[in-house]
Amino acid sequence: MKKHNFSAGPCILPQEVMKKASEAILNFNGLNLSLIEISHRSKDFVDVMENARSLAIELLGLEGKGYKALFLQGGASTEFLMVAYNLLNKKAAYLNTGTWSTKAIKEAKLFGELVEVASSKDGNFNYIPKGYTIPSDADYFHCTSNNTIFGTQIKEFPEVPTKLVCDMSSDIFSRQLDFSKFDLIYAGAQKNMGPAGTTLVVIKEDILGQVERVIPSMLDYKVHIGKDSMFNTPAVFPVYVSMLTLEWLKDLGGIEAIEKVNDAKATLLYNEIDRNPLFNGFAAKEDRSHMNATFNLADDSMKDTFDTLWKEAGINGLNGHRSVGGYRASIYNALPLESVDVLVDVMQQLEKKA
Ligand SMILES: *Cc1c(COP(=O)(O)O)cnc(C)c1O
Repeated sequence: MKKHNFSAGPCILPQEVMKKASEAILNFNGLNLSLIEISHRSKDFVDVMENARSLAIELLGLEGKGYKALFLQGGASTEFLMVAYNLLNKKAAYLNTGTWSTKAIKEAKLFGELVEVASSKDGNFNYIPKGYTIPSDADYFHCTSNNTIFGTQIKEFPEVPTKLVCDMSSDIFSRQLDFSKFDLIYAGAQKNMGPAGTTLVVIKEDILGQVERVIPSMLDYKVHIGKDSMFNTPAVFPVYVSMLTLEWLKDLGGIEAIEKVNDAKATLLYNEIDRNPLFNGFAAKEDRSHMNATFNLADDSMKDTFDTLWKEAGINGLNGHRSVGGYRASIYNALPLESVDVLVDVMQQLEKKA
């Protein structure tokens, strides 16, 4: 039986997507050829790329608003430097909400002055700073919408006097936002969209071309836009699976529909964390992530019992990240509500044994 997969990333994808993807590995589009052995320039694959790009724009509600979607390689980690390479002339402003923000800041510092507008490091990143000021002469403001490791999520984005750039790797397509407020959004596929190996970048095209430096082709968003995301051989399989996941999401009713399911899963799990005296939530309540729920045992001596219980229940991937400890339940789009039911049941079983 398929496990209840709470892995933080790479993570669960819809079962029907994996089935279609495995069929395409053997025989793609009835061609009697595998998806991964045909030219990326063939019509069959160009259609996949175009479909994936337009589904991303459509699901985010950005049609006709001057945005382009790209499927690049090098992970979200490469976007940390590409964003700065393409947008940072003199000064950039960053909000530091965790490990991924810290890494993005480190890369951007190579390209100009960096203002850290606020940081939640003092609380081991268990909250989202608020009420900070963003310098209006910054070339852009960068934030991380969902902090995969610490389990916090920005609920309200600040009014920004400059371009708004966001790393949405771990909550893209999970909740409704006014995506047109953002000038550049990027997301590694492996948290809510597909296998590792491709990164979705959604850019408002008119923000490009404003830096003075020479940009190497592979790192230049304009080059990738000019080549319809095919400047070099794209990661054909990850792009294909991302396309299937986006189709799945569209058939389900889009972000509006999945957000309801995600809210139901998060409410169920956080209610149990708050009700059950054996568990403590890690993140500040108002900043709790609806994608990654972090929690600890009130009494560490119960660890072995709890670990045995959840493993016996067919649960996978519940251990917390090494920088936080405890537990992390990642409840991404494709995780069914029934899996959260199983986890809550295990938490209640532990309470009965205590
Ligand atoms: C996983 C993750 C990354 C890193 O992605 P890679 O594809 O491994 O480079 C960056 N930001 C966030 C928010 C993430 O969750």
